[in-house]
Amino acid sequence: MRNRSACLAAAAFLLAAVGCESGDAESPTAPRVTTTVAPPTVTAPASDATAGEEAAARRPDVLLLIADTLRADRLPAYGFEYGKTPTLDRLTRDAVVFDRAVAASAATMPSHASMFTSRFVRQHSVGYNNGNTMLADEKTIAQHFQEAGYATAGFIGNVMMLDRLTGFARGFEVYDDRLPQPEKNRPEFFEREAPQTTQRAIAWLKKRAGDRPVFLLVHYQDPHGPYTPPERVLRGISLPAPEEEPRLPVNETQSGYGGIPAYQALEGLDRQSQYESRYLAEILYMDRWMGLLLDAFEEHRPDAGHVVVFTSDHGESLGEEGHWFEHGHTSMPDLAHVPFLLRAPEVPAGRRSEPVSHVDILPTLLDLAGLPVPADAVGVALGPYLRENERLPARELYCDLGLETGIYDDDGITRIRFSSFEAADAGNTRDADVSRWDWTPGGPPVARDSEAEVGAAAAAYLADVKTPRVLTAAPDPKHVERMRALGYIEPEDPAD
Ligand SMILES: [Zn+2]
Repeated sequence: MRNRSACLAAAAFLLAAVGCESGDAESPTAPRVTTTVAPPTVTAPASDATAGEEAAARRPDVLLLIADTLRADRLPAYGFEYGKTPTLDRLTRDAVVFDRAVAASAATMPSHASMFTSRFVRQHSVGYNNGNTMLADEKTIAQHFQEAGYATAGFIGNVMMLDRLTGFARGFEVYDDRLPQPEKNRPEFFEREAPQTTQRAIAWLKKRAGDRPVFLLVHYQDPHGPYTPPERVLRGISLPAPEEEPRLPVNETQSGYGGIPAYQALEGLDRQSQYESRYLAEILYMDRWMGLLLDAFEEHRPDAGHVVVFTSDHGESLGEEGHWFEHGHTSMPDLAHVPFLLRAPEVPAGRRSEPVSHVDILPTLLDLAGLPVPADAVGVALGPYLRENERLPARELYCDLGLETGIYDDDGITRIRFSSFEAADAGNTRDADVSRWDWTPGGPPVARDSEAEVGAAAAAYLADVKTPRVLTAAPDPKHVERMRALGYIEPEDPAD
């Protein structure tokens, strides 16, 4: 599997990065990087510069909230009765809720790259890879805001978003990817939980003088496995368990097919309801901290308008098609259906049923800030349609993993499973398994036609594969050996 190879390559790289940081391969310290990027040089005459600063000062503050691994249908905002999300409920009351928001990928890095660039994954330099390519020369959403005079900052929690791995820091004056904590079952994978992420983001906000608007990205890792919420938060969740709930085996590998992936395994727990309760508790934990962040954001420049988008990079399988507590393997709604809430001045609250995508985030936020939308953005600025209560144009939106692509439109899903890596890379659907599915958000997809057509727009998109333009440095062989010893790299795996 290409995705698996990419993950393994990433894992090897991560260990190399951590090892390099510590200088001691046996006791790696957490990666600690706070990248500071100088603001753009002002070259215009002073009077123009002053006018530009005054114009910038009138623009709204913009907050982009991203939860990692959060499927929409486990949120009360999307009808789930056993979830608890007081902050999101508060946000939902004044927001537009998009019922059919589609992730650009089922993996962290390509989805974020699509959010940052308004390109589907075959159109940016990350491609559909997770961990072995970089976002190289595409202009990012943070760069757009920075050039418009915004103070820009990003606070992240997932090792797959380390700047040294991704190139995601461009345009952020502060890109804080300090990840102080190892994952429970994978000490090589570092992360940061909601309290630390929130506190550092709030500290940054409080240091702003208020003369410039802010573009703030805060990424929460908590719903990502392993599901280890504080016990007191877990006690707030009451998910009913079926009377005869099957026991799940623990897999020896990181695959969740047919059982619990090794990285998710929690001692003494082997039932779906036990894991899902913890998943819901992680969401609640994140939500409570996000409430403090939202308060601080609204207190910053209280007279400015405040624009907020909340979404996720991908979902999580909870037993669909035999996959448990993992992501990255399918383009179906368990991974592709993500939350998407938008709150902005003069945008009336409500629900929309048209499909929207990660690629809509860049044009939507720039437009709501009164900034020009780049002509090559493939997404749509949603604000004008929402203000005028007009339907969005009919579109095809892609959740693309490489070997599998899901095409979401107003009427359902076309699922393409390519016959080989070569065929996937060429967008060649001749021998692909192409099927058509009906889908009502909140429910499972239902197979309609086993031999479906791929339309012209999809064919054009699939042929738009880009060879990744920048690769990370090859991992240090010493660290690859250690990864192999730990079981992350199988000897026959072609990735190494
Ligand atoms: Zn992710």
